[in-house]
Amino acid sequence: MYDVNAIRADFPILSREVNGKPLVYLDNGASAQKPQVVIDAITRAYSQEYANVHRGLHFLSNLATDNYEGVRAKIARFLNAKSEDEIVFNSGTTEGINMVAYSWAMPNMKAGDEIILSVMEHHANIVPWHFLRERMGVVLKWVDVDSTGALDPQAVLDAITDKTKLIAVTHMSNVLGTKVDVKSICTGAREKGVAVLVDGSQAAVHLPVDVQDIGADFYAITGHKLYGPSGSGAIHIKPERFAEMRPFIGGGDMIREVAKDGVIYNDAPMKFEAGTPGIVQMIGLGVAVDYMMGHGMDAIAAHEDSLRDYAVAKLNGLNWVQVQGTTPDKGAIFSFTIDGAAHAHDISTILDKRGVAVRAGQHCTGPLMEHMGLNATCRASFGMYNTTDEVDVWLDALELAHELFA
Ligand code: PLP
Repeated sequence: MYDVNAIRADFPILSREVNGKPLVYLDNGASAQKPQVVIDAITRAYSQEYANVHRGLHFLSNLATDNYEGVRAKIARFLNAKSEDEIVFNSGTTEGINMVAYSWAMPNMKAGDEIILSVMEHHANIVPWHFLRERMGVVLKWVDVDSTGALDPQAVLDAITDKTKLIAVTHMSNVLGTKVDVKSICTGAREKGVAVLVDGSQAAVHLPVDVQDIGADFYAITGHKLYGPSGSGAIHIKPERFAEMRPFIGGGDMIREVAKDGVIYNDAPMKFEAGTPGIVQMIGLGVAVDYMMGHGMDAIAAHEDSLRDYAVAKLNGLNWVQVQGTTPDKGAIFSFTIDGAAHAHDISTILDKRGVAVRAGQHCTGPLMEHMGLNATCRASFGMYNTTDEVDVWLDALELAHELFA
């Protein structure tokens, strides 16, 4: 039984007030709040169990190493990876995608080679590819979404030519909530020898993810959206891709031997993890994914689907709200504008006065905003602890904003 009130009680921040009103936190798409177990794990790691990892022979270093390395198996379980050795730790999706750009794409692509992107990618899955365009002359090809915000997997596959080396696509849009059939994209791409990077930043928060079933070459997640600490994250990499990659950050930990005339690298995944890592952040992330798996990803997804359906039914009765992204099975993410031409920032300020936290702006999706012909939207994005009562508070506050601007 999914007990949302018990879950809410696990997140201390949810009981605070903002502007004299109970907090209604609907900015989960930007970053999620943390349960007490994660906060406790961070405190314990620093107050009782902290030392650098992988290098000491003393008790605390061994303990910290065990705690830190134990997270690899947790993340492998969370993503249903075949082996924990396929999980590279990092500070989040941005670093994960940059790593793929420098470690895999740069050595394996040349001028004129193509990367296919959907128009709804987050800047984290655009800018690293622009770097390669600027520095190497690779070509970026864009695939549009339709008027509901859906991305046709066949349209992505149809864009493949003999110059295409990579498809970089989100699993769930952070603006529209659209879910992408990444499995079909990966299956079709594999037949044509094209690699696929999936940005799982949003999807992994809201859906059970099975990287073996999806079959992506690279699947990136980011810890702070998964109810874990900021500065934590991971990327799942298919073992056969490791052989094609060269490390892009050099330093301690990623080497076995360093001499004046050369370096012998460590094996993957450590080959791609240079320097002192986010030890405590990763330990916190391990606890966070355990927390989510403890509640069950299917149960979390079902709860959020019911919030989505409740919100959609109510929004359908408000003809002055325009919601972007209307695919029926979307995630509980609502980007909206309202009649009266009020700027998204003004709407979010009014909502904030009612204790409702939403995001306003471009949501790091310049090409999508251009595609939709909008400068900015407000975004209400739901998480595992939100309730239908909070949908009501949000929409009541929106009603107020509409009256003010009408
Ligand atoms: N991709 C998507 C779809 C996102 O929503 C985000 C964060 O907003 C990112 C990538 C970047 O994640 P991070 O800033 O944690 O690296």
